[in-house]
Amino acid sequence: MLRRTVEELSTGSDSDYSNSWISWFLSSKGNEYFCEVEEDYILDRFNLTGLNTEVANYSQALDLITDNLDDEIQDELRGSLDVQARLLYGLIHARWIVTARGLAKMLEKYKKADFGRCPRVLCQSQPLLPVGLTDIPYEKSVKLYCARCEDIYSPKSSRHGSIDGAYFGTSFPHLLFLVYPHLIPPKSGPPDVSAASGSTSTSGGREEGGKRVAGRRAREEVDVGVAEGVGEGASTAAAAMKADRYRPKIFGFHVHEIAKLQRWQEAVRDKQVVKLEEIDV
Ligand SMILES: [Zn+2]
Repeated sequence: MLRRTVEELSTGSDSDYSNSWISWFLSSKGNEYFCEVEEDYILDRFNLTGLNTEVANYSQALDLITDNLDDEIQDELRGSLDVQARLLYGLIHARWIVTARGLAKMLEKYKKADFGRCPRVLCQSQPLLPVGLTDIPYEKSVKLYCARCEDIYSPKSSRHGSIDGAYFGTSFPHLLFLVYPHLIPPKSGPPDVSAASGSTSTSGGREEGGKRVAGRRAREEVDVGVAEGVGEGASTAAAAMKADRYRPKIFGFHVHEIAKLQRWQEAVRDKQVVKLEEIDV
């Protein structure tokens, strides 16, 4: 359904293109996760503090996304400027979606499940929210956060999978639930099992969602190498220890309730690992 909407938008994009750079960007295939940053926000230079050091050709890139670029310059630099304009828009977007108006815009998209749904059966097609694993660009691609299982997933489509996570930031989904606490879904767990097995509503062939990331954090590359060896002949205890976890943070601070829960869960896991080690010996 989502894909068809995009097709329609991109075939009719000639008029969008002449309208404004932002509407062209938003209607381009693969940019469905982004919401529209209001022009007032972009034009207020205070909101862009520091971005001039992050983006090459900053002022031309800014002119391009606000449709103020001279046609002559546009021809000369067009190719590289487009890359810089995307980077600039992405970084502004990350700041915008944690403002009250930005959160409200992303909330609309969340309600339409624009970011896909959790592939985990017991999450009962819980809509996902985009999240970055770092706020620094060019480091990690965007992941999708499920508020029900509190884990993250890779987008199914490679177009979405290659979006920079810094364009959404590490705080966004957690701040959204802090501002709209009534939207926090009930936790899945043992009480839900009977209800879920009785219903047929789960996993009804939705195309979004995707592969599980197993909650890997910053040390992704390193861990992948280690984890590959785990399947063959390694001890069960070692395998249990390799499972990395996703930690929700707002502006770098652990989200309190979840941090408490995770400490308890990890204590349980460590106890289990000790038991497994005894068995392995
Ligand atoms: Zn989930």
